[in-house]
Amino acid sequence: MAIERGKIRWNGWGWSAHKDTLAGREEVWSWLAEEVGMPSLLATPARKLEDIELPKPQLAADARARLAAIVGEENVRDDKNERAFHALGRSYHDLLRLRAGDLSQAPDAAIYPRATEEVLALLSLAAERDIAVVPYGGGTSVVGGVSANRGPFASVVTVDLSLMESVIEIDAPSRLATAQAGVYGPALENALEAKGLTLGHFPQSFEFSTLGGWIAHRGAGQSSSGYGRADDWLAGAKLATPRGLFDTQSFPASSAGPDLLSLVLGSEGIFGIVTEATLRLHAAPAASDYRGYLFRDFASGAAAIRSAAQEGVPATMLRLSDGEETRFYRAFARAGQRASIKARLEQAYLDARGIGPGACALIAGFEGEKSIVGAASSYFTQIARRLGAVPLGRGQGRRWLAGRFHGPYLRDPMMDRGLGVDTLETAASWSKLDALYTAVRTALDNAMRETAPRPGAHGVVLCHISHSYRDGASLYFTYIFPRALGGEIAQWQAIKKAASDAIVAHGGTISHHHGVGEDHLAWIAQEKGCLGIDVLRAVKAALDPKGIMNPGKLIP
Ligand SMILES: Cc1cc2nc3c(=O)[nH]c(=O)nc-3n(C[C@H](O)[C@H](O)[C@H](O)COP(=O)(O)OP(=O)(O)OC[C@H]3O[C@@H](n4cnc5c(N)ncnc54)[C@H](O)[C@@H]3O)c2cc1C
Repeated sequence: MAIERGKIRWNGWGWSAHKDTLAGREEVWSWLAEEVGMPSLLATPARKLEDIELPKPQLAADARARLAAIVGEENVRDDKNERAFHALGRSYHDLLRLRAGDLSQAPDAAIYPRATEEVLALLSLAAERDIAVVPYGGGTSVVGGVSANRGPFASVVTVDLSLMESVIEIDAPSRLATAQAGVYGPALENALEAKGLTLGHFPQSFEFSTLGGWIAHRGAGQSSSGYGRADDWLAGAKLATPRGLFDTQSFPASSAGPDLLSLVLGSEGIFGIVTEATLRLHAAPAASDYRGYLFRDFASGAAAIRSAAQEGVPATMLRLSDGEETRFYRAFARAGQRASIKARLEQAYLDARGIGPGACALIAGFEGEKSIVGAASSYFTQIARRLGAVPLGRGQGRRWLAGRFHGPYLRDPMMDRGLGVDTLETAASWSKLDALYTAVRTALDNAMRETAPRPGAHGVVLCHISHSYRDGASLYFTYIFPRALGGEIAQWQAIKKAASDAIVAHGGTISHHHGVGEDHLAWIAQEKGCLGIDVLRAVKAALDPKGIMNPGKLIP
């Protein structure tokens, strides 16, 4: 059963019914105020939908009737809730606008097709009638990927894929599955688990994002070291375009010319709509071992990850927090509490081993066949010890696993209290990583000070290595800062620009797994080059000659 849109927050994260676990925890909020140099936090509640007016829908009555003839009247939805839900994605920038009641980008209608043929028919109609089309999976884009931007067109519809959620076929001997693109993470994994299989794609947005979204923005789950990114597990796809069906077929390998599947991966809805995909699967893991380590500093933790990646240790996940992230989350968990005797003893034990206040926590995860998991975990522990780390055991790993999808729920209560919370990520080769890390951290720190609402206020920058490869790794930054009320969009832009300029100047990609959308347009040409952008334009002209697909995204 597709997730009912009314059960998910239209202007925040996750289930509407989710309870704020920090309500009434004043000691946490006072601690956070101190962290960002504010005497106290402010009350900045979101506007209620009933108090917000939406622009009039611009879809012509006869076009609406023809869309209804394709997908069914009940699947052309243009009430206020549907239009608000589909206006923007779930980035900090999006939430600033949604919470302020800016629904100027609401689509004229949300269309819910059920099959590839319906998608093809509605795209053909949209091309004929000059209607802009925004493909929409779970809407969790954090780069402005689903903004209902109408571009030069008078009307815009969002095509919500959530009714296309069937797992069509599981080919167990080949470890392949074919599924419709609108299937959500949990539904897909449940169907695969019933056959003893897994895709292993677990982004932090897993519960609220879809297969089509993972493919269209070329995502990476938290366990991608073991199970691969979308680039690794996508075997084939059907892309419905305004010019017809682009079907890549699926082969284990092929040398029949350039790989056209790459045009689907990361295409962000600008060429067409992925309606079905064939995926490479793994056996559901028989064993799983997640555990923690503490390193003296970021460099020694990064060296351990590099060794593991280059020596071929089959880790599912290696995630290293820098000193500030490690300190912040430990202090967050203990905010307002006196250090217990146990905690003080633990600290004394660590101090004796040279693990001081700049310590960096690493969570390592291993999944698969029991003996391989055991060997991989022991081997990684040897690497970690060699680099001076203290193993912390499985408790840390269990806690991380239990809370792996919870973090995003903290953003809304922070935004209710005058705080901004944003994230960005990049990747570079090992030899560039350290300079990139320092440059982005410094850029964020300076920009948050420069845009702070009062003297002495500042932000907090947290970073971890989130994914690793033989040749490099990704850095994931979270930054929390007091909002400059009234000038929040300009503040966001200034911070984003400072960090993105630093990324590009230091050899990082503008995105490791969030994509380009609208928010990274200013930097994409530098990464792809003029000819590269021309190639993308040529593909778009071939598949979407009128340019109706997801205007304003990916190509500047
Ligand atoms: C709290 C949070 C945590 C996140 N964690 C991760 C993470 O760990 N890893 C990660 O990779 N990403 C992460 N993201 C980013 C986001 O969740 C991913 O981009 C996600 O895969 C998007 O899937 P979706 O179904 O929500 O796509 P949407 O947001 O609906 O769409 C994303 C883009 O793909 C296009 N699109 C969607 N479906 C289709 C389709 N069927 N055909 C063609 N185009 C389509 C859209 O037009 C848009 O451009 C996170 C986001 C949030 C808010």
